[in-house]
Amino acid sequence: MGVLSMPPFCVMLCVQLRGKGSDAMDYLWSPWRYQYMALVTGGKQPECIFCDSLARKDDAETLIVHRGEKTFVILNRFPYTSGHVMIVPYAHVSELNSCDLGTLAEMMKLAQSTEMALRAIYKPDGMNLGMNLGRAAGAGVLGHLHLHVLPRWIGDSNFMTVTGETRVHPEELKTTYERLHKVLA
Ligand SMILES: [Zn+2]
Repeated sequence: MGVLSMPPFCVMLCVQLRGKGSDAMDYLWSPWRYQYMALVTGGKQPECIFCDSLARKDDAETLIVHRGEKTFVILNRFPYTSGHVMIVPYAHVSELNSCDLGTLAEMMKLAQSTEMALRAIYKPDGMNLGMNLGRAAGAGVLGHLHLHVLPRWIGDSNFMTVTGETRVHPEELKTTYERLHKVLA
């Protein structure tokens, strides 16, 4: 062989450079570290991006793909992989202990629907579901808990993200929004 070749899918990927020195696993659960709202609001940071997104009532803009009775599903604006969403209670609470049973049940019910939707749309090899509670655990939005759900593919991190210090975005957020909104709404 001896010929330099790239896997064929590389051609189709849109790759965004990450900052030097950042840690891939840290980044996985710290999606808001890139000053998301500073970009969206032109430098003015709201106290809580989840409460702010809910109040704005422009779901296509704030990327809320589903509003339930007690919880909602919102796209991560800086996804680790395409289809990276968060399931969030309407109530601004930082601990599961502060959630009533209805909220907890709906979060898991939405986790189930989201899992099914992501499997149907993206056909991933696996999925991550997880929460960071508190700064020491890597929470990007302090004060308002949220459950990350994201599809994973074999090689999605060890190829680009870890060795190349890059993130892989095969899909525009608007497309992800439309696809998930159609299934979850
Ligand atoms: Zn909040």
